[in-house]
Amino acid sequence: MLRRADGWLLDVFYPERAACLVCGKPSHGMRLCPGCAAELNALRLDGERELWLGAAYRYQGVARKLVHRLKYDCVEDAARLLACAMAENARAMALPRDTVVTWVSMPEKRRRMRGIDHGRLLAESVAGALGLTCGALLERRGRGLGHTQRGLGRMARQRNLQGAFRCAGDIPPHVLLVDDVYTTGATMRECTACLREGGARRVETLTACRVMTRENTGEWMGRQGT
Ligand SMILES: [Zn+2]
Repeated sequence: MLRRADGWLLDVFYPERAACLVCGKPSHGMRLCPGCAAELNALRLDGERELWLGAAYRYQGVARKLVHRLKYDCVEDAARLLACAMAENARAMALPRDTVVTWVSMPEKRRRMRGIDHGRLLAESVAGALGLTCGALLERRGRGLGHTQRGLGRMARQRNLQGAFRCAGDIPPHVLLVDDVYTTGATMRECTACLREGGARRVETLTACRVMTRENTGEWMGRQGT
């Protein structure tokens, strides 16, 4: 509890910034105003890892807006804020010290268009908070593969990603794979399979948010029942 409170204060206190990252209201030196901070806190997923698959927040409200601030407005502070909670979840995974943190690489064209690789920013912030190494272990293969997943169903997402990634260089035995949003898990499964093929023995996944659909929840409840 002490560590959590400490981390919160250290990571969230940001004297240069006077406005909330999400709503723009005065935030008294914090990254979020009290209202947004309270809402974000309520969206926190710090329960069983099996259930939330490492995700830090529900993909709703302020948490969703923070991801959008990072992805579409290139706000690096949003990555740092999300990474605080992600790192907390990662600590519960008891990762070996030689774990390398990596991210789901973005198609090059999109990365150039947005100007930042938000996955990389998240991974670097998480690695920094955990004192682990961060490195690019995955790259997109070919053109057109793994095009945007938005609006696609579960099966279509998985098909869309098949063969979309390849390993970049030597793959270490222990990897923590970071991404912004866990939707159906298709991306994480594809990347995990790729890293394992490349030689990783243990791949843990960690996302800032998880989409809480009936399908996702039902899937979990089904697993629990067996
Ligand atoms: Zn606010």
